[in-house]
Amino acid sequence: MEFNKARNIIGLRVLSDNVIWLWVKDKSVVVVDPSVHEPVIRYIDENNLNLEAIWQTHHHSDHIGGTKSLIERWPNVKVIASYKEQKRIPFQNVSVEDGETLNILGEEVQIIEVLGHTSSHIAFFLNGKIPVLFIGDTLFSGGCGRIFEGTYQQMYSSLERIKSLPKNTLIYCAHEYTKSNILWALNLKPKDQDIKNKLSEVEKKLSHNKLTIPFLLADEMKINLFLRAKNLEEFTFLRENKDLWV
Ligand code: ZN
Ligand code: FE
Repeated sequence: MEFNKARNIIGLRVLSDNVIWLWVKDKSVVVVDPSVHEPVIRYIDENNLNLEAIWQTHHHSDHIGGTKSLIERWPNVKVIASYKEQKRIPFQNVSVEDGETLNILGEEVQIIEVLGHTSSHIAFFLNGKIPVLFIGDTLFSGGCGRIFEGTYQQMYSSLERIKSLPKNTLIYCAHEYTKSNILWALNLKPKDQDIKNKLSEVEKKLSHNKLTIPFLLADEMKINLFLRAKNLEEFTFLRENKDLWV
């Protein structure tokens, strides 16, 4: 896949629909939201790598469940999480806030706070020729995160912020929800050609046992109804509609 030429990012499918992302560079690994530990340890050992950092986008157990065991195996690993989550992500040892930049694996990583799904959700942005965004549960292909702790306004603003990033940003989310999201969107917009094309593309990938993630921001802005919403009212209508659909 041409996407992965710039950076070596591997997706491990775990649980029912989670994806753990591993960014590998020069024998070092950053793991994003390890819901479980076994497949992460197996991959790192099989490839003779070292775990450098764990990035946590938010506190849900399907994102932090494997972290404790990874720390036991690699006691010096950096665990990077929002400073607002010191209680709910207690093993963090690098606490970050919105706008902060860190140097990891020789690259600058920017922290972007994207509230709505939880009251402290963060994303990790790597700028460069092909920018990369690890967005956790804030944006999915064809969908967005449920609003559990935040407000509709916060989630809407988070999506606006994502839209302001470079359009060639590759987005890595934490769940393979794409097909059901696209079916929901088609139910609302049955004649939308871009969404219809997306469905066939997604079905093809899934039938070959491939992930539909990452996705390109520019493409996503054409097919994701939440990103297409023109105002908070439209966004709220869509989010409520989607909550009832699944
Ligand atoms: Zn979540
Ligand atoms: Fe999740």
